[in-house]
Amino acid sequence: MDEKIQDINRELMLDANATAGLLQEIFGVEMTASHTECANCGNESEMGTLLAFTHGPGIVLRCSACENVMIRIVQTPDAIHLDARGAVYLKMVRAKRVRPADLSNDALGG
Ligand SMILES: [Zn+2]
Repeated sequence: MDEKIQDINRELMLDANATAGLLQEIFGVEMTASHTECANCGNESEMGTLLAFTHGPGIVLRCSACENVMIRIVQTPDAIHLDARGAVYLKMVRAKRVRPADLSNDALGG
């Protein structure tokens, strides 16, 4: 990639917090504090620290250490396509479950 294209890409780069809403829609939980590991360099970080490129036909999240493509997301009218082969793992922390004893009568509609 020549330097001019790299400069343009840098100008379009965001941090992954900019994709927080989409990530939450896909995974069903808040993801920016979720841990992940780069399959290329082994850098472990929070999803929100990845480098986000959102101006293409899809979204690309790159490692903040080595810039390896970790996650690619493309949305079509029918589906969301997610390629995460650049990540060793994505750790999603479970939302705390609400136990029946925690529910008040109001929450149950009674
Ligand atoms: Zn990396």
